[in-house]
Amino acid sequence: MARKIALVAAALALGFALAYLITRKPKPVPPAPGIAMTLAESRAGRVSQLRYEVTFRVPEKRTDAVSAHLRATFVLTDKDQPLLFDFAQPTERLLAMHANRNIIQPAVEAQHIVIPASALLTGENIVEFEFIAGEAALNRNDDFLYALFVPARASQTMPVFDQPDLKARWRLLLNIPKDWIGVSNGKEIGRVTAPTHLGLIFEETQPISTYLFTFAAGKFTIDSDERNGRVFRMLHRETDAAKVARNRKAIFDLHAQALSSLESYTGIPYPFGKFDFVAVPSFQFGGMEHPGSVFYNASSLFLDESATQNQYLGRASLISHETAHMWFGDLVTMKWFNDVWMKEVFANFMAAKIVNPSFPEVNHELRFLFQHYPSAYDVDRTEGSNPIRQELANLNEAGSLYGAIIYQKAPIVMRQLELLLGADNFRDGLREYLNGHKYGNATWKDLIAVLDARTPSDLAAWSHAWVEERGRPKITVRLSPSGGPTALALEENDPLVRSLSWPQQLILTEGHKDRVVDTRVDFSGQLRASRDAADPSLWVLPNGGGLGYGDFVLEDANLQAIATALPDLKDPLTRGAALVTLWESMLEGRFATTRMMDVIVTALPRETDELNTSQLLEYTRSLFWRYTAADDRGELAPKLETVLRAGLDKATTTSLKSAWFGTLKSVATTPETTVWLTKVWRREIVIPKLPMAEADEADLALDLAVRDVPDAAAILQAQLGRFKNPDRKARFAFVMPAVSSDAAVRDAFFESLKDVNNRRREAWVLEAARMLHHPLRAAVSKKYVADALALVREIQQTGDIFFPKRWADATLSGYQSPQTAAQVREFITALPADYPQRLKWVLLSAADPVFRAAKILHQ
Ligand SMILES: [Zn+2]
Repeated sequence: MARKIALVAAALALGFALAYLITRKPKPVPPAPGIAMTLAESRAGRVSQLRYEVTFRVPEKRTDAVSAHLRATFVLTDKDQPLLFDFAQPTERLLAMHANRNIIQPAVEAQHIVIPASALLTGENIVEFEFIAGEAALNRNDDFLYALFVPARASQTMPVFDQPDLKARWRLLLNIPKDWIGVSNGKEIGRVTAPTHLGLIFEETQPISTYLFTFAAGKFTIDSDERNGRVFRMLHRETDAAKVARNRKAIFDLHAQALSSLESYTGIPYPFGKFDFVAVPSFQFGGMEHPGSVFYNASSLFLDESATQNQYLGRASLISHETAHMWFGDLVTMKWFNDVWMKEVFANFMAAKIVNPSFPEVNHELRFLFQHYPSAYDVDRTEGSNPIRQELANLNEAGSLYGAIIYQKAPIVMRQLELLLGADNFRDGLREYLNGHKYGNATWKDLIAVLDARTPSDLAAWSHAWVEERGRPKITVRLSPSGGPTALALEENDPLVRSLSWPQQLILTEGHKDRVVDTRVDFSGQLRASRDAADPSLWVLPNGGGLGYGDFVLEDANLQAIATALPDLKDPLTRGAALVTLWESMLEGRFATTRMMDVIVTALPRETDELNTSQLLEYTRSLFWRYTAADDRGELAPKLETVLRAGLDKATTTSLKSAWFGTLKSVATTPETTVWLTKVWRREIVIPKLPMAEADEADLALDLAVRDVPDAAAILQAQLGRFKNPDRKARFAFVMPAVSSDAAVRDAFFESLKDVNNRRREAWVLEAARMLHHPLRAAVSKKYVADALALVREIQQTGDIFFPKRWADATLSGYQSPQTAAQVREFITALPADYPQRLKWVLLSAADPVFRAAKILHQ
């Protein structure tokens, strides 16, 4: 009986289950933290014609809450399921809400607000929220604030559909203290004045993604200028009037030039009405491309008199990069953040095209090499290498997509794609793509489809190796002096054993007895070429022209011949390519570090191209601190400092002097140089043609303090008193404890960084972290390493996009010992199984120099 009853029960249960399956509606996506791709896809299929009207009331006092109201209007295809808004705040911050006149009890569940199906309408809906704005993305300071919502931080402030493919028209009413000014994407079209407050009404925007909506307000100065009939406005807080005067013309010129270059390349007029930009003190990125209201790091726009050529070029590139985003990213936006690399690669690609003609004295191929290859290799040569295009299940992990693979490797790959298609054909393809998706969204596959139709090559296969898989090819180069059919042989291998092939154009540069010859080849895995035995190649550089990408494995005789030839090579680009090859070979253990230092010290005094000089100087710092054993530095230092002092004296321009001085002060360890630097800081010694700006003196004070000079504490205090600019002073005061000679002060400072509220100003934190982990402090600071790395996961959740990698880099910047390497390895090995893969890659690539140094120096 029991059995029979059980069967009946089972049959009944099954019947109910079947009936349930038949009658029940599609299962709603249950709320989960972040913005899952499944949620985004389902919403994008249901919601259209989206508009937000939002009011923020910003109080005078930084600690008082920002209250806000948001009204979303949209068309819904169906009212069968509940609808989720994203709001990563506790329920108590949601004060009231209603949907289509239905009052709904405020509730936030797993970072979402659920609008029940019963309150929704098929067709037009109006949903309103009264709330306290979340602070994390508002970057509040005492007398200014700015919203920074990329990639999905709008929902940490307000209830929205926080996904790039639900573009909305935004209307903003911004209430601010009456002596402040405000800016947003739209033009200010009206004002309401109250006794203590000022209400700014901004014009409705074009359809833009949530991550691009923004506003800033505070005590700013507005400077505006007209170019080609368009008014550009700049908001800034720089107190040094001479500095503003020195830079402003160039800043406006660069914007106007970038804008007109883009209009002519794309064939599409600037799509967002007015053009303002804000110079934000200690901004966490170089810039952010909010349409109509670009944000920049103030120090990247206002250059000091001591700025180097690289900084001038960097500024021009940055302005062009952000301006290019107005088309690539803002007008046509990736559907999901897995394609965020596309907007970045095109912004960089366009920036290069725009900037180059304005700096005719610069070797741009050489600059492209140094701007992209070393940084791309810094990730691609490591265990933490990652594909350009990565899957992304939830936007709360979007931050870990950003890095050198997107910013540096992708442009290298894109240059190869342009070579494959031809420049005009490639441009026409981009125009077709932009016009086809205006004010909308698109994917990499959409672009590849457009381009594939324009070439006989198999772009899908090409994209698979270059874009969708991680790592770089290993290309072995053999050179036989005897001539014959295999005198030169190149063979490609996939070091990660996936049998991938990376088709690319190469320039083979070969050195003969009395000449250097370039040969351009289409390389697809194998190459054999004969050479004349009577006139043999003494060496071959497979990345000639700075074009080829990969780990080029050269025979020792070839490497040595390149090293010997390098300082005498006539073409600066060939010298640069040779330098990168030697450096990479050194890091792979195929070229001795001491020999590398010889090459650098020989080449430096003879180098005539500033870009090569800068790269040599940068390698010098890395070689001295990372790849020279701590015990060997003392012997090397006097000789190296002599070379650097001589270079500084001999340099003829401020830009060059600044580059030499930067490296000298970085590597200075002898008492003579330290005393000399102290006198420079005290203004007892003036270096001709090298003006010391406030920021330069501040850097120098920190460098002296970390060396424990006798009166370090007094220098820091005196430096604090020297500041005229309050923003720079506040930053310095924050960093000071990190260089204290009192270990207890440093311990307390490190502890304080475990509180997210002390990590809000990321640029300050990173500077402090680099000082805390300075190589001279490595022995006493290594105890912080494990705790600092453990914070990375939390930092990914609480910080901005670049912060996790930069924090890990800063944490590991000063170490080289096998003990620390083992400690870091142990930390990574012990990570839990559910630790995010991409974040693990971030740690592995940041740790790579520590592993490598330990291996090279102590094997
Ligand atoms: Zn960008």
